[in-house]
Amino acid sequence: MRKTAKRGQIIVVSGPSGAGKSTVIAEVRTRRANLTFSISYTTRQPRQGEENHVHYHFVDQETFRQMIEEGAFLEYASYQGNYYGTARADVEALVGDGYDVLLDIEVQGGATVRRLCPEATLIFVVPPSFGELSRRLHGRQSESEEVIQGRLNRAREEYREIPNYDYLVINDKISEAADEVLSILKAQDCRVSARFDMIKGDISL
Ligand code: 5GP
Repeated sequence: MRKTAKRGQIIVVSGPSGAGKSTVIAEVRTRRANLTFSISYTTRQPRQGEENHVHYHFVDQETFRQMIEEGAFLEYASYQGNYYGTARADVEALVGDGYDVLLDIEVQGGATVRRLCPEATLIFVVPPSFGELSRRLHGRQSESEEVIQGRLNRAREEYREIPNYDYLVINDKISEAADEVLSILKAQDCRVSARFDMIKGDISL
């Protein structure tokens, strides 16, 4: 992770549970220097292997509600009975320091970021098919059938939001999906709006 002089960009990555988002994000992070991600707050219980302040800041409902009242969240949403939110101050500090900040958030949060930060890039990650999504969720063996069915129903609703995103990545192979995300980020770097200042002085524009 490397700081840069200019302001960083916000990149939203959404997609149904089981799309392999976290794995793709982890791969992308190892291959792009100034990319980091904001650790979200959640009221859900930690899963096995998850660490507080590493995977999430795990907080109780009361703390989360208080943070909502204080306006601490850039965005937050309720998902499968739990709250999830992105701390405004964390994102502002990282972007101000020149880091590109990746937000792994669901679609309501994505819509909020689009509204509040129109310059953000929104990427939606899907598995190759819905059947494959079901297989991946069943393969985890950590969740009950009821929870899995809930996640599949929720996935159907989330797919309807795809037209509001800028890019669609189909995650068949992790390394190829990571390549696509990196290409998207590279293209964003090359936008005139991101680069014009760098060359303006050359010909006194
Ligand atoms: P999980 O419980 O599987 O870790 O996450 C469930 C969903 O919540 C995922 O779609 C994930 O992207 C989303 N999520 C995680 N953090 C946030 C957040 O800060 N805000 C919003 N809106 N969604 C989040």
